[in-house]
Amino acid sequence: MKILSVNAGSSSLKFTLIELPSREVIASGLFEKIGIDGSCYTIKYNGEKIVKEVELKDHSVAVSKLIEELLANKIVASLDEIEGIGHRILHGGSEFTKSLLLDDSVLERISKYNELGPLHNPANITGVKAFMKVLPNVPNVGVFDTTFHQTMSEEEYLYPVPMEWYTEYGIRKYGFHGTSHRFINKSISEYLNRNDLKVISCHIGNGGSICAINGGNVVDTTMGFTPLAGIMMGTRSGDIDPSIIPFVMKKTGKTAEEVVNDLNKKSGLLGISGISSDSRDVEEAALKGDKRAILAQNMYAQKIANYIAMYNNLLNGADVIVFTAGVGENSKNMRKMIIERIQSLGVKIDDDKNDFRGEFRLISTDDSKIPVYVIPTNEELMIALDTMELISK
Ligand code: ADP
Repeated sequence: MKILSVNAGSSSLKFTLIELPSREVIASGLFEKIGIDGSCYTIKYNGEKIVKEVELKDHSVAVSKLIEELLANKIVASLDEIEGIGHRILHGGSEFTKSLLLDDSVLERISKYNELGPLHNPANITGVKAFMKVLPNVPNVGVFDTTFHQTMSEEEYLYPVPMEWYTEYGIRKYGFHGTSHRFINKSISEYLNRNDLKVISCHIGNGGSICAINGGNVVDTTMGFTPLAGIMMGTRSGDIDPSIIPFVMKKTGKTAEEVVNDLNKKSGLLGISGISSDSRDVEEAALKGDKRAILAQNMYAQKIANYIAMYNNLLNGADVIVFTAGVGENSKNMRKMIIERIQSLGVKIDDDKNDFRGEFRLISTDDSKIPVYVIPTNEELMIALDTMELISK
């Protein structure tokens, strides 16, 4: 069975065509600058790369081009081979607790949450509509970043603020990266052949979040009402004292939106190092002795370590810690820096085992109190697996 896994942005459309159940990636690609000058696309297939610059007026044109290329390159013999399309959708509010089949009325319900994810949700919906238009007979499934976290209890998802903020405006912790954390939990549970694991899943990429999972249910996660909360990230501050915002507004004359934009785009590793949001650049500068880069790395590692320790307490002792995403999968130095900061939990890294990138491996010593794994995340596969399950019902 071939499933398309899709992530549509406001001017982009990323896809992966996956064969199931073998999980083989048949083709993948990216349509960029949709609706803007200089639009182009790249498709990878069979070790080859197709790169074309063409006008992509809107998402429907991009989808039509994708279909054209799939047929012209015989990636699929006919469109009937594509049995389902799974779409990444950012926000399902408190309403959507699972992935589901999409139709016009469900899209209408999802659009109610556009104000909670203004950059992503309208674009995600545009992507779904484009596929519905071009491939009207293929079922579409929505897979949300927020649904996995819907098992959090009131105690964890409410903020200690006037209750009306929640009841009137839906202000609560939603959490993000749910598809990645769900994939990590599924992978480690299958690998260890247990469904009662207490997992601390650390998704550390450009964005980052940590998730405490007990037997497949999320107990708590670090991102909040928006992805700005929690650990320090590439360009996001993570948790700060909210009183800083009006103070900076007064000092700089910036609007609230501008200050929040600084917290989203100019903070984190970038803000502290003054060099880059990319952990590789910061690491390189730190190795050369750049003081701000060293400070940025230390702060980054410490904030992650603090949350791991907190979640170990919340879970009353975790069974396993997992690192994933760009930094978690690839940076052995950052993994080491984090683990050195959770020694009080009896966690120990094995430097030889940790000397690799981008694979599923154990990196802790045999006597580490909690085993630590690295698992490459695969949100595209998770989306395809949900799609297969829902269309096979
Ligand atoms: P996104 O949140 O945009 O999906 P990714 O999960 O791709 O981000 O993570 C991007 C981060 O991963 C960047 O900070 C990048 O520096 C880091 N990264 C990627 N490869 C390596 C590597 N080999 N060593 C260290 N960091 C890496």
